[in-house]
Amino acid sequence: MFIDKDYIENLLIEAKNVPDSEIDSILDKADEFAGLTHQEVAALLVNENPAYLERIFKIAGKIKEHIYGDRIVMFAPLYVSDYCVNQCAYCGYRCTTKFERRKLTQDEIREEVRILEQMGHKRIALEAGEDDENCPIDYILECLKTIYDMKFENGAIRRANVNIAATTVENFQKLHDAGIGTYILFQETYHQPTYEKMHISGPKHNYEYHLTAFDRAMQGGIDDVGAGVLFGLYEPFFEVLGLMIHNEHLEEKFGVGFHTISVPRLCKTKEMTLDGFKHLVDDDTFLKIVAIIRLAVPFTGMILSTREDHDMRKKLLKTGISQLSAGSSTDVGGYNKRENQQSQFEINDDRTAGEIIEELLDDSYVPSFCTACYRSGRTGDRFMSLAKSGQIKNVCLPNALMTLYEYAVDYGNETFLQKSEKVIHQQIQNIGNETIRRKVTENLEKIKVGKRDLYL
Ligand code: SAM
Ligand code: SF4
Repeated sequence: MFIDKDYIENLLIEAKNVPDSEIDSILDKADEFAGLTHQEVAALLVNENPAYLERIFKIAGKIKEHIYGDRIVMFAPLYVSDYCVNQCAYCGYRCTTKFERRKLTQDEIREEVRILEQMGHKRIALEAGEDDENCPIDYILECLKTIYDMKFENGAIRRANVNIAATTVENFQKLHDAGIGTYILFQETYHQPTYEKMHISGPKHNYEYHLTAFDRAMQGGIDDVGAGVLFGLYEPFFEVLGLMIHNEHLEEKFGVGFHTISVPRLCKTKEMTLDGFKHLVDDDTFLKIVAIIRLAVPFTGMILSTREDHDMRKKLLKTGISQLSAGSSTDVGGYNKRENQQSQFEINDDRTAGEIIEELLDDSYVPSFCTACYRSGRTGDRFMSLAKSGQIKNVCLPNALMTLYEYAVDYGNETFLQKSEKVIHQQIQNIGNETIRRKVTENLEKIKVGKRDLYL
């Protein structure tokens, strides 16, 4: 198995002896966007020198600015089913919690999608518990078809990422054929004894099957996979090294690692406080971790959800986060505010999508609704080589500006539209290629008079 507990534990002990001269050269390497090996990540994680920490944040900010500019990609989760046969100790949907479970009918999916669309979303993450009988793969495929078939005056959900249980190569092939964006799966914890303790019963109890899900997804043709751990279950530095080694494993075997990394921290649920969890990650450690991941995998998108509160979300945007959810509900059918809702967990940023997007704009970010890459076949190693060559900048910024303008025209009030125009006017100067700059200017005019879904 590519994750070896003893190896990671030893690495964390040995990393304490890494001399300052070596830390300097690791940081010099990161400063050139060269990424880091897991051994180098270990050295940074255990180093407690505040001067180095300051440099880590500085480089993370620089990478963020250079590769991602001011763009923040927006999305929202869509929970379709809370049936679950697993007993994950931390989750509101675990099978031992008594509540009336439901899965959305296709009509209900349409209602949810309509609401998400009214918020301006173009990208969703489809979420479901694991239950082969009540929520089989065919149901997920039906949901995807319903979502992709819906077209509105102002657009559609153009990219559906999928966060469902580990499955077979055959099922991954089906998801691939259904045109999903990223297949997202959190390892929860890379520490096998903790994993087995936290996943008390059900198919998810099988550590190895869960750990090898991305191998099967890639064999099934999915080349954008999104990883994560649930911070709070086990020692966070161990988890970060698990992520790094997992990423290296996929790079070696398939030529491409994670497309995204999510950084969820454990939240309360209706039935559970956080009192019993001994590895909760404090804010300072969390900020450091996010920054180090940014240094280690500069071209991997980093996703933050509404599990974090307003203040932390603001801080984390500076140290590496490139995708943000907004206006989220973690209830099945939650956008339509149905009765007897049961959340998977309690969120900490309950502002509306509009409020979040407007604040981003006020802070000089460019909220982006872009979904162009995978629709243009820029996935897996094709995306990564474009990103590494720096070319992606000539694509992402133009697309971000065009989709922001679409959003402003379709969903913004007069003030929002004016603010967007100001930001777009400033940002357009950052498009290096003159031909592209001209093309974007033309497209913005077209959007103004009603054209939609223009992208490079
Ligand atoms: N049921 C599938 C699974 O577990 O892989 C699909 C994803 S589940 C709907 C989404 C994620 O929510 C889980 O992977 C888990 O990390 C996270 N989650 C569950 N309970 C949580 C809690 N109390 N706080 C924060 N995140 C939680
Ligand atoms: Fe089910 Fe996923 Fe919750 Fe576990 S985390 S109980 S698999 S929904």
